[in-house]
Amino acid sequence: MPDLNDIKVKRILKKINSKYEPIYIPVVSESYALLNECFPNVEKKVKLDGGSIVFGWQIWKTPLICEAEFHGIWKSHDGNLLDITPKNPHVESILFIQDDNVLYNGAQIDNIRINNTDNPLVNDIIDIHKALFRIRNKGDRAFVYKSTLKGEEARVYRNLESFGSILQNYIYQGGQINAHCFCGSGYLYTDCHRRELDSLILRSKSF
Ligand SMILES: [Zn+2]
Repeated sequence: MPDLNDIKVKRILKKINSKYEPIYIPVVSESYALLNECFPNVEKKVKLDGGSIVFGWQIWKTPLICEAEFHGIWKSHDGNLLDITPKNPHVESILFIQDDNVLYNGAQIDNIRINNTDNPLVNDIIDIHKALFRIRNKGDRAFVYKSTLKGEEARVYRNLESFGSILQNYIYQGGQINAHCFCGSGYLYTDCHRRELDSLILRSKSF
């Protein structure tokens, strides 16, 4: 569970810039609730039990990235807040900050991510996440939870995904922007596969 005094958590909260205070919310999932699909889950809960939906951000940390995901929780008539959406793996509670600045219209909203390390190479992973989101949610696809990609878009998407997992392993093994590239060419990453990443990201913007 992310610590409110953690410097990276403070930075991501600053980025969100909400007037509310971050709070820990218990996770008590409903039997009908689907994994990660918070908005339809809470909508159903409101129909069955009343109350309302509260929009905001769920915050967590992985070894490389500190992340905020746009999220909906349930507020009861008497003001109790509950996260009714199951997670995998299960957690007892989440760190959440309400935010009224983002208008949710059914279109997917990308996570906010910051580098959780001192290694600038992690920023390349963050750029890959942005590019994947861009492709996955282009045009009308933004309104579809899981969309199917075809042709060149699917190819670039797969390449970005596998680049991301190779890069992650490279970082865990001590990889740096100015160290020898993971491919074994003998060139520095920045003069080798970094260029391939740049062209994949450029492609993701061209669709
Ligand atoms: Zn290379």
